[in-house]
Amino acid sequence: MRRPFEPDPGHAGEGTGMLQDFSPIRDIAHADVIGAGIAGTWQALALAKAGLDVTVYERDDAAMREAVSHVAGGMLAPWCEGEASEPVITRLGARSLELWREEFPDTPFNGSLVVAHPRDRADFDRFAKLTGGHRRLDAPAIANLEPALEGRFGDALFFPDEGHVEPRRVLPQLHERLAALGVAVRFETGHHANDDTRLTVDCRGLAARDSAPELRGVKGEMIVVETTEIALSRPVRLLHPRWPLYIIPRERNRFMIGATSIESEDRGVSVRSALELLSAAYAVHPAFGEARIVEIGAGLRPAFPDNLPRIDVEGRRIAVNGLYRHGFLLAPALAELTTAYVTRGAIDNQVMRCA
Ligand SMILES: Cc1cc2nc3c(=O)[nH]c(=O)nc-3n(C[C@H](O)[C@H](O)[C@H](O)COP(=O)(O)OP(=O)(O)OC[C@H]3O[C@@H](n4cnc5c(N)ncnc54)[C@H](O)[C@@H]3O)c2cc1C
Repeated sequence: MRRPFEPDPGHAGEGTGMLQDFSPIRDIAHADVIGAGIAGTWQALALAKAGLDVTVYERDDAAMREAVSHVAGGMLAPWCEGEASEPVITRLGARSLELWREEFPDTPFNGSLVVAHPRDRADFDRFAKLTGGHRRLDAPAIANLEPALEGRFGDALFFPDEGHVEPRRVLPQLHERLAALGVAVRFETGHHANDDTRLTVDCRGLAARDSAPELRGVKGEMIVVETTEIALSRPVRLLHPRWPLYIIPRERNRFMIGATSIESEDRGVSVRSALELLSAAYAVHPAFGEARIVEIGAGLRPAFPDNLPRIDVEGRRIAVNGLYRHGFLLAPALAELTTAYVTRGAIDNQVMRCA
C-alpha cells in the first residue's frame, strides 16, 4: 500500500495537470510553516514525512484559542458539502478522508444524517438531488441508527462514509505527532517570511491579508451545550429554509450546535443567531431545551471571493489559504498537493497557482 505523502502519479484525478520529475525547489531541505492551525499542522506533517527538516511558528500559545480551527465543528463531510460547493471540494475532501484514516485510524467514521421536517420537504429533495454518496432512510431505519431520534422524522439521508474529528483534541494530537517526527513547534513566536534559503509555507489564515488582500472573514457562530438526556453517534444536519444547522456529538455529553454563515468580521455572537441555533436544536429534539449552555463562540473563516482554497506558489514561498468552511475537510489533501509540488513539481491546476 502507498504510504501517505509518497508520490502517487495516478492520484491527482480529474481536472489536474501533472509536471513529473521537475521541481524548482526540490533542492530545499528545510521548511518553515507559519501557523499551527489545521492547515499548517497538516502541511508540516506532510513535509516532515517527505523528509524535510520542518519548523512550525505559531504566534498563539498551545491552546490555540485565536485560531478559527479552535471553534470549528470538525465535520469531514465531502458529500454533504457538495450541496453548496464546487466538485473540487468533494474530490479533495474524499482524498482527505483517506489521509485522516491513515493518520488517525480511530477517527469516527459513523457517517452523517440529514433530516428535515415535513414542511421543508422541498429543501430535503433538493439536497438529495445535489449530493451523492447517500442512501434514504425511513423512520424505523432512522430509529435503528439514532435511537434518540425515534419518531421525530419520517425520512433522512444517510451519508455512511463521512466522519468527524474533535478539533480541540485533534489539534494537540497533531502537534504531538509533529514533535515525535522531530518538528519544532514554536508557540508564541510570530514569523514573517524573510529567509530565501528556506521553503516557507504560509498558513496564517485571515492574518495573511497583508499578502492576499482579497481574503475575507466569514463569520461562523456556534453554541456548545451539555445534556445527558440525548445521545447521538454522528453529526445530524437539519435542513431549514432560514436556519440550516448541524449538531455534532462531542465527548462528555456535549454537543456543538453550528453554524451560522454571515458576511461579517465582527467576532461577537448576536442574540438572533443564538436564538436561531438553539431553536433549531430544539426542533431536532426537545431534550435540547433542558441542556446546559457551556460555550457560545464565533470564528472568522478565511475565504477568497470564490470560496475555494488556494495554494499560491511564488519562488520558495507557498501560501495555503482560503479553506473557508472546509479546513478540517481539506487540510490533508492540500498538504499532500503541496508536498507533491515540493518534491517533484506536480501541479494540481484546480487549486495551485504558480507566479
Ligand atoms: C463555527 C465554525 C464551524 C466550522 N466547522 C467546520 C467543519 O465542521 N469542518 C471543516 O472542515 N471546517 C469547519 N470550519 C472551517 C475551519 O474552521 C477553517 O476552514 C479552518 O480552521 C481554517 O484553518 P487555518 O489553519 O487556515 O486557519 P487558523 O485555524 O486560523 O490558523 C491560522 C494560524 O496562524 C497563526 N498565525 C497568524 N499569523 C501568524 C504569524 N505571523 N506567525 C505565526 N503564526 C501566525 C494564527 O495564530 C492561527 O493559529 C468551521 C469554521 C467555523 C467558524
